Amino acid sequence: MDERQFVAYLKDKFPFHSGLGIGDDASVVRLGKYFQLISTDILIEDIHFRLQDLSLAELAEKSLAVNISDIAAMGGQAQYFYIGLGFPDGLRPEALRAFFSGLSRAAKKWRVDLAGGDYSRSKKMFIAVTIVGQSKKPVLRSGARPGDWIAITGPTGGSALGLKLLLAGEQNSPFIRLHKRPKPQCEKGLLLARYAHAMIDLSDGLLLDLSRLLQASGVGAEIDYEKLPVPPHFRRLCRQKNYAEKELVLAGGEDYQLLFAISPLQESRLRQTGMIYHVIGKTTKQRRLRVLENGQPLKISHFGFDHFLDQSDKKKK
Ligand SMILES: [Mg+2]
Repeated sequence: MDERQFVAYLKDKFPFHSGLGIGDDASVVRLGKYFQLISTDILIEDIHFRLQDLSLAELAEKSLAVNISDIAAMGGQAQYFYIGLGFPDGLRPEALRAFFSGLSRAAKKWRVDLAGGDYSRSKKMFIAVTIVGQSKKPVLRSGARPGDWIAITGPTGGSALGLKLLLAGEQNSPFIRLHKRPKPQCEKGLLLARYAHAMIDLSDGLLLDLSRLLQASGVGAEIDYEKLPVPPHFRRLCRQKNYAEKELVLAGGEDYQLLFAISPLQESRLRQTGMIYHVIGKTTKQRRLRVLENGQPLKISHFGFDHFLDQSDKKKK
C-alpha cells in the first residue's frame, strides 16, 4: 500500500463528521466565525534525524517548525501545540533541559504556546507534535482550477543538498543550516489565504507535493524547470560535488516553502503586495504532470513520477 492508498483506506474506514478530516495539511473544523486547524507530525530518531547531526535544541525547533508549516500551508495562524516525547534512558537530564530550552525559544519566535503533552522513556528518541491554529478562510489542496498559475514562495533543493553534505561528513555550510533550521512561511501563508485557490507546504519534494495538490484538485500541470528558483551557489556546488541538481530541486524535500495555485487575476493583485514568490507553471485540464526544460519534456520517471495522475486509473482498467 502506498501513501495515497493508505490515506484513501483511512478516509473510508474513519468518516469524519465534524468538517474536513484526513487528506490535507491540517483538519478543518468550523468554530463560530473561525475554522480550527489541527495537524500532527512525528519525528523518529534514525528515521527522520540522527542525534549526531543536530543539537537537541535544533531538533526541538525543527519539530515545531515542520508542524507550524502545515498551518501556514492552510493559510492559518498557529496558536498552541501539544508534544509527545520519547526519551532514551541513556540521555542525561541536561539533554532534556536543552531540548526544552530550544523548544521554548522556538515557541516564542513563532508565538505559539505549549498546551500539554506526554512523556515516556523509549529505546529511540521520538517527538510527536500536534499543532492547533485558526483561519477565517482556510486554503485547501483541492481548490486549483485549470488555467491557474502555479507558484512557490522560495527555492527548493537547498535542504536536500544540506542533508547530502551532512551525510558526507561536512558540518559547515549554509545548506546544512537550511536543513537543520527550516523556516515555516507563516506570514506568506497568511497573506496567500486572501489570494490562492489551493496550497500545500513542500515537505516531501516539489513533484510529490505538487502531485498531491493536483490530485486533490483533479487537474494536471506543466511546470518549467528553468523557472524554478534555486538557492545562491546551489548549482555551482552541485556541479563541484557531482550531485544530481534536478533530483535535488524536484524531489529533494524538507524545503518548507509554500506551493500554491492562483488565478491570473488574483496573481496580478498578489504581485502588488510586494510579496516575493515565483511562478513556475500552470495547471491544465489534462490530468498529468509535465516538467519542461526549454520547452522539451523532462524525463521525470526516474524520480518515480511516471504518469502519476493517471496511474491508478490505468491499473483499474
Ligand atoms: Mg504538509
